[in-house]
Amino acid sequence: MNNNQLWQAVLGEIELNLSKANFTTWFKNTFISEFNDNKCIVCVPNTFTKAWLEKKYHQQISDALSNVCDRKVNEIFYKVEIRKNSPMGDLLKKIKIKKEEGDTPVSINRFGLNARYVFDSFVVGKGNELAHAASQAVAANPGNAYNPLFIYGGVGLGKTHLLQAIGHEITRQGGQVLYVSSEKFTNDYIQAVKSGNAKDFKERYRNVDCLLVDDIQFMAGKDGTQEEFFHTFNELHQGNKQIILTSDRAPKSIPALEKRLLSRFEWGMVADVSPPDVETKVAILSSKCKEKNYSLDDDILQYIASSVQNNIRELEGVLNRLIAYHEFNNSQPSMDSTKNVLNSLLSNIKTKSTTSKNILEVVSRFFDIGQKEIMGKSRKKELVYPRQITMYLMRKELNTSYPTIGSELGGRDHTTAMHAFKKIVREADNNERVKQDIESIKQALYASI
Ligand code: ADP
Ligand code: MG
Repeated sequence: MNNNQLWQAVLGEIELNLSKANFTTWFKNTFISEFNDNKCIVCVPNTFTKAWLEKKYHQQISDALSNVCDRKVNEIFYKVEIRKNSPMGDLLKKIKIKKEEGDTPVSINRFGLNARYVFDSFVVGKGNELAHAASQAVAANPGNAYNPLFIYGGVGLGKTHLLQAIGHEITRQGGQVLYVSSEKFTNDYIQAVKSGNAKDFKERYRNVDCLLVDDIQFMAGKDGTQEEFFHTFNELHQGNKQIILTSDRAPKSIPALEKRLLSRFEWGMVADVSPPDVETKVAILSSKCKEKNYSLDDDILQYIASSVQNNIRELEGVLNRLIAYHEFNNSQPSMDSTKNVLNSLLSNIKTKSTTSKNILEVVSRFFDIGQKEIMGKSRKKELVYPRQITMYLMRKELNTSYPTIGSELGGRDHTTAMHAFKKIVREADNNERVKQDIESIKQALYASI
């Protein structure tokens, strides 16, 4: 059975237990990119679907996969990847998309580092200056500045780039560096246990001057791996060796993380990266243009920067497509042609408008509760929070007046809506979980799923 057939069989099982709408919403355009004894990578079209499958459907997927394979498959990872031959909109079909940098064989050195991810190509702006400064301090003084350094933040905001930039700098000084994703660490560890080769594993991970572990959140819930990582961490730390970790969320917000690891993650410096402001986006775009020896007018850069929300990887992708389109047509980008290309590219990342109906729908799907219950009177905790999030988003995203929000949500008083808005604003500031819920819901609102 190849990966495709396997996934079809898995989907067949899952479909039995889901409503048609849910099934198509969450499993459309998914596929398996890699499958071997203990690891399965499920590719999904966007980050929201990824969060959703991880949060809501992981167990079902794992059960179905285990059924189909007739053995337990626990190591399932989700990755955002669009199948190369998936329909991408008429315009894009017409143009031969030049291979994006992500697709070309990037040059990875023997330490596992990508040659592009260096400090020189990293643009510093409001959202990343602390993380950048801490990274430079660590690179200049490994083992002594902050140990560990823990960088966290949303997807596509430069965590891997910074992590590897530090790695490059330390290797330049002659240090031994090892870069791995936490999935790789997990797999290596499982392999080592299976083959009885724990000694090799220990040597590989403990004889370095600097260990870089990307996306540590994937260690959540993997007790054996966490135990091993705990010992690796201690040994390196005691030897004054530098440890740098990244994650999509703060240490405290990683679910099922052992307390002793959590406390160690917070020993050194915890720095976040947040989405860039428009100026930083413009600066990143001009720096990427320079790298490619391509020039774009300032107003076009401004336009792209304000059209693409929050994600630098997406920003780069849009720029690449724009350049490819104009090279293919042998034309010079103008404001009009830029708008056209961006419109068709971003039609599935709609950044413009949503409606209260949409908000209600997405919140209800996200929390898996009925719209009626959100509108209803029950004061159960599991309903009050989604209800407040709905009110918050109606205000924040649509600037709806409090009386209107109140009446749209089951005839509530305007003070209730106002209270809900303020409460969620406060909580989003103090509680990573809430912040993340809002982010995910917003992505769903503006993504075509
Ligand atoms: P993350 O690991 O946070 O998901 P990455 O480090 O993979 O994000 O960054 C995504 C892409 O955006 C990479 O190609 C990276 O080079 C680029 N990038 C991110 N932040 C910056 C920045 N501040 N300056 C220049 N490029 C950046
Ligand atoms: Mg990364």
